[in-house]
Amino acid sequence: MSVSDHEMAGQRLAEVKNEMRAACHMANRPAETVQLVAVSKQQPEARIIAMLEAGQQIYGENRVQEARQRWADRRADWPELRLHLIGPLQSNKAAEAVALFDVIETVDRPKIAAALAAEMTRQNRPLPCLIQVNTGEEPQKSGVLPEELAGFYDYCTKEAGLRVTGLMCIPPAEEEPAMHFALLARLAADLGLAELSMGMSGDYAEAIRFGATSVRVGSALFGQRPPRP
Ligand SMILES: *Cc1c(COP(=O)(O)O)cnc(C)c1O
Repeated sequence: MSVSDHEMAGQRLAEVKNEMRAACHMANRPAETVQLVAVSKQQPEARIIAMLEAGQQIYGENRVQEARQRWADRRADWPELRLHLIGPLQSNKAAEAVALFDVIETVDRPKIAAALAAEMTRQNRPLPCLIQVNTGEEPQKSGVLPEELAGFYDYCTKEAGLRVTGLMCIPPAEEEPAMHFALLARLAADLGLAELSMGMSGDYAEAIRFGATSVRVGSALFGQRPPRP
């Protein structure tokens, strides 16, 4: 690893945290009310090591297998490490996901909710979960539709027995994110949910102004992702 990986990680982390603090200040919110999830998917090892050494402890990954390869053996050296699953999950990966992750942000259908709940019971790991909402109602995107949310929330909490702490969204790439952030915040308020995972590299400051409690930042922290092989 080069000195520049270290310098770069420290510098970018400080910049993102400064911008988060400024956004909190503008929104009249204490800085501690927003958590930074560093999205490490596809990033080279050297950048991840540098980010760990810069002090970042919460990471997001969107694929279970890639996350296990990258993180499973790091737990021993970094006991404060917290991993968030931010990508779609298949029910045959539920066991692995529950064993590896600390927060599941992408619960989006009954089958997955039931599989996660069963594994959490079996492994005695009752993890906090977020429901992913497809605020843009995009056919290709995961997440429950806004009008299905209340029913699905009831299913998750009452039937499956999941601990749902909040909502997550990925706004359509080509639209203004503000209306999606506002919608997610309103849906969470309607359900009395405290956690809002929204905002990425291009719009996390805006998400904070709309109430994000967790922002998922990848390229602004690590640099551009190399393409998947
Ligand atoms: C990749 C990804 C991010 C981070 O994207 P950047 O634009 O690099 O910050 C955030 N959330 C999800 C769900 C992702 O898949």
